[in-house]
Amino acid sequence: MTFSDFNFDPQLLEGLQSMGYVKPTPIQAQAIPLILQHKDLIACAQTGTGKTASYLLPVLQHISTSDKKHTKALILAPTRELAQQIDQQVEGLAYFAGISSIAVYGGGDGMIYEQQRRAMMDGVDIVIATPGRLIAHLASGVIKLDHLQYLVLDEADRMLDMGFYEDILRIIGNLPKERQTLLFSATMPPKIRTLANTILKDPQQINIALSQPAVGISQQVYMVHDNQKVKLISSLLKGGDYKSVLIFCSRKETVKDLNRTLRREGIKSEAFHSDLEQEQRETVLRAFKSRVLPVIIGTDVLSRGIDVEGISLVINFDVPPDPEDYIHRIGRTARAETTGTAITFVNEKDQRKFSFIENLIGKEIPRMTLPEELGEGPVYSPTTRRPSTGGNNRNGKKKVWVKRKA
Ligand code: AMP
Repeated sequence: MTFSDFNFDPQLLEGLQSMGYVKPTPIQAQAIPLILQHKDLIACAQTGTGKTASYLLPVLQHISTSDKKHTKALILAPTRELAQQIDQQVEGLAYFAGISSIAVYGGGDGMIYEQQRRAMMDGVDIVIATPGRLIAHLASGVIKLDHLQYLVLDEADRMLDMGFYEDILRIIGNLPKERQTLLFSATMPPKIRTLANTILKDPQQINIALSQPAVGISQQVYMVHDNQKVKLISSLLKGGDYKSVLIFCSRKETVKDLNRTLRREGIKSEAFHSDLEQEQRETVLRAFKSRVLPVIIGTDVLSRGIDVEGISLVINFDVPPDPEDYIHRIGRTARAETTGTAITFVNEKDQRKFSFIENLIGKEIPRMTLPEELGEGPVYSPTTRRPSTGGNNRNGKKKVWVKRKA
């Protein structure tokens, strides 16, 4: 199957070409025809599968052939980072089709709020919003979404985890009843089913390899004592040819400590966590994306958001609190059919949590032997109590609103 099989507009095909998408991913092959047939959809697909383009392409196709006076599509996303990344994909795919979009998220100064407000008042084609900020705009009474035709909920499970259930229903109360609704979620807990029953009409369902890391990721695990972790990182980074490396730690104190230690070891790294100002985060991400900075150490703030091509190595300095977060962390490498390595360090305390990850993905992750000079690691003998779920938050960068003409 190729993208030409969908009869997309030539401008959209041009956008696809410029983004370097040659072949639809499995979720795209399944979702695009259903969305083009105006079906509501509930899709279980995680980040890294190409889910964003699977809903954007049919929506863009529709908008490119209709009038551009009013907002036609609303995409709700849990975080500013995700909203911005979706917006960037819209910009790339819709570049030749002249479709406009804006990411609407919290934070920033009054000028950003005003830009968002103006864009929505001007009838920007696509609004990509985090629920809280959109409600603030809707509450002002100036923004109307009466002509909306598409509602997309992206990472719906994460939105519910973050407590947005009521906000989502409130937003939907402002939308036309006649619309197409598409719900994407990495997991399908009962609360997502409940939401789907409330807001979708006779939906089609797609399930793309629930909770499975992309096949291109080589997963490895080291059983380590805490005092072996830093030495192991140094040895891995100095021994391998890794150009872009993400290191995840569950706590920001660990991120800061590890960053200081690695820098002392002569490794060019930066820390990324919720204490940084937005500008500082942007600077770090920019340096990383442009390959000036080879190593970022971050909390799970990074794990859902960062969308950088060619990350060759992800290291879990500790085991994430929630097994699903493991999938998100390692999903930063091997994006869409490339390859990458994901290495997890497991100390004695984390062994139980790690066993739940293996249960979730349904296979054993290959155990690696520590370099000889580091000595022996602990023996693996997990017990079986369910680990607790960790929280998450995210961040991103500004966009200036300029209405694009068709
Ligand atoms: P997503 O699952 O939507 O977060 O997409 C994961 C990554 O795959 C993003 O970096 C997309 O730009 C990329 N991508 C999406 N669709 C394709 C495709 N058909 N071919 C190649 N890359 C893609």
